Amino acid sequence: MSHDTQNTVSTGSLPGPDVVEAVLDEAYERFRDLDEGTVIEGVPALADAEPDLFGVALMDSDGAEHIRGDARHQFSIQSISKAFAYALVCQEIGHDAVLERVGVDNTGVPFDSVLAIEHNEGHPMNPMVNAGAIAATGLAPGDSSAERWDFLLHGLSRFAGRELEIDEAVYRSESRSNQRNQGLALLLEGHGRLSGDALGVVDVYTKQCSLLVDARDLAVMGATLASGGVNPRTGEQVVDASIARDTVSVLASTGMYERSGEWLFEVGAPAKSGISGGIVMVSPGKGAVGAFSPRLDDAGNSVRGRKVSAHLSRALGLDVFASRPPSDLPSEGPRVRRR
Ligand code: GLU
Repeated sequence: MSHDTQNTVSTGSLPGPDVVEAVLDEAYERFRDLDEGTVIEGVPALADAEPDLFGVALMDSDGAEHIRGDARHQFSIQSISKAFAYALVCQEIGHDAVLERVGVDNTGVPFDSVLAIEHNEGHPMNPMVNAGAIAATGLAPGDSSAERWDFLLHGLSRFAGRELEIDEAVYRSESRSNQRNQGLALLLEGHGRLSGDALGVVDVYTKQCSLLVDARDLAVMGATLASGGVNPRTGEQVVDASIARDTVSVLASTGMYERSGEWLFEVGAPAKSGISGGIVMVSPGKGAVGAFSPRLDDAGNSVRGRKVSAHLSRALGLDVFASRPPSDLPSEGPRVRRR
């Protein structure tokens, strides 16, 4: 079932720009010297990242932006592309078809694991880790890898509001070291769960992961999901409001690898991270935060990105689960506190 969000949204608004600026200063200063975590190894072009980089950007649903630090430093989007590729594919083939072909559940296993496929008779389950994301990329419309790539490049660029480009060094490096992803794709194909030729789909997936973005781009892309699918900078409707809603709901349970539950408990807003150190966090109706810092925790989430997102969520009311008691209850009203 798809949801009509027209009359059924429950969101609120951000504090005014002065408060946002002050909170961003505080958050950035608090975590700028934190050096916990390690840069990803295994993909040579990513292992070379400068560990001290730290940028944060916030874009509200009206398109106002606030940035700090290295928010304009470019890095490859990696796994964060999965969120937006998923939205684009859902838009093309519909909520139910993606649910049936790919699934929406966290698998609790590392991002490049084959276990979820084998445990679920070929059903990849989680579109935010590699098996499910490769299956989703295979669902992009087109008769060839070139057409599928064109669709995704164009769609991801519409989310960012500018033409995105591939980091050729990362693309080449990942293409030489992505045998696991090729294995996942062949396994999916063997289970009849992949459209398109397996190695061609992995190539498109590798390209999508190699697109260059900065933290500010992530904030624009996230703010598009937070604003009923309309890019607040360009005004373009990139996906329907119902698809933006579906995508954000999937991020809530799957976006932060095996730490998705812990993230939701601590931070309270749907998010997606990638192994190059980016995080996008979406607060429906309010806006989005893009963060970048290459040192990762053992699940693959940026340590400073995680901390700064948690701080901003609390200080700016981005947490989608937080509420306060109503202030307008009559004094004789039903407020009963039992001891
Ligand atoms: N390109 C990486 C891979 O497929 C992305 C991993 C990630 O960011 O989680 O392995």
